[in-house]
Amino acid sequence: MSLATEIELLESTPVHKGVQLPIYMDNHATTALDPRVLEAMLPYMTKIYGNAASRNHQFGWEAEQGVELAREQIAKLIGATPKEIIFTSGATEGNNLAIKGVAEMYREKGNHIITQVTEHKAVLDTCKRLEKNGYKVTYLPVQPDGLVSVADIEAAMTTETILVTIMYANNEIGVVNPIAEIGKLCHAKGVLFHTDGVQAVGKIPVNVQTDNIDLLSLTAHKIYGPKGVGALYVRRRNPRVQLNAQIDGGGHERGMRSGTLNVAGIVGLGKACEIAGAEMEAEIARLTGLRDYMRGKFEAALDYIAVNGNMDHHLPGNLNMSFVYVEGESLLMGINDIAVSSGSACTSATLEPSYVLKALGLGDDVAHSSIRFGLGRFNTKEEVDYVADKLIDTVLKLRELSPLYEMVKEGIDLTKIEWTAH
Ligand SMILES: *Cc1c(COP(=O)(O)O)cnc(C)c1O
Repeated sequence: MSLATEIELLESTPVHKGVQLPIYMDNHATTALDPRVLEAMLPYMTKIYGNAASRNHQFGWEAEQGVELAREQIAKLIGATPKEIIFTSGATEGNNLAIKGVAEMYREKGNHIITQVTEHKAVLDTCKRLEKNGYKVTYLPVQPDGLVSVADIEAAMTTETILVTIMYANNEIGVVNPIAEIGKLCHAKGVLFHTDGVQAVGKIPVNVQTDNIDLLSLTAHKIYGPKGVGALYVRRRNPRVQLNAQIDGGGHERGMRSGTLNVAGIVGLGKACEIAGAEMEAEIARLTGLRDYMRGKFEAALDYIAVNGNMDHHLPGNLNMSFVYVEGESLLMGINDIAVSSGSACTSATLEPSYVLKALGLGDDVAHSSIRFGLGRFNTKEEVDYVADKLIDTVLKLRELSPLYEMVKEGIDLTKIEWTAH
């Protein structure tokens, strides 16, 4: 399809009540590229095509300049120094490099790692791999509000513990962990602290100094940058963190991550960080307002709904709600012009309830009937109105057809019913 036809198609998408459909409200999965980021990247995809590692000519120098500016922009956003930024292909690689890199480098010191059950798969599966290789991993449960307990972390520490890896903010339920407290504990105990910072960096203030973070993974495509590029912060003083490289080659990135740098992507990541830092305060206020407004609409119109996750320690753009007594799949089908995520994960052919929601103690049914709304920079109040109205409408219709809901309304205690099979 030609670009012109594509643009025409986009412009001809149906418009309802001032919003263009479909509506994207899944900003924890990925975000649209900010046009300002694209503009910064374009020269590096055309004229400035040198290899940033080419030290002996103009083409290389210009590419390197773009990369080094990005390093500064990223470092500034998280309170680091440019030398502490290592470029990766994204946060999956960053998490792998941090956790495996530390585990291998500090193997003689100990073989124990502490994490929590609600981490992203990029952390959990990395830990599982290490277990196969002889490491011991503690997967801490979380509290019913989704937060990890600092006391639990302390109690799990042994003389063998070399690393604690706890995410800054959760990608499903939006809760923000007590990172500064965890960092303080780890530094007091001489244990390295890694955090998967993907959902927090650029969204809420993050500072590796005041938070005592030793390693932090981030990725561009969750902060309106391009896909396939990210960075790992690796502390250089107090303490100086060493990593065993996971990709060997030309010794790029201080030997920690070989491979020719994705210059245009890196420039985009840098620009995305600069914008996020400059607009954070206003963005927090706007998204928190929209989120609370949406929650208010649900609560005014519907009964038997609940928010998931601690709302006092929460990402501005996240709302995760359970709509009890409706079937998750029917709910999603009823709102098929809206992109959100459900509390179900498609693992192979079956629909599994989300392991994060289950870790909060939710039953399978409630997990399946949960929706994650991920508000972002380009969502408008008109869109929030459309989404909330459509969802309320769908829930009401589905409940009209739900015998369970009828029984509950009539005051029948569902837990006391002896179900018989027919
Ligand atoms: C998206 C995400 C990742 C994976 O990042 P990629 O750059 O897509 O590999 C890791 N952790 C969290 C919390 C995420 O939301």
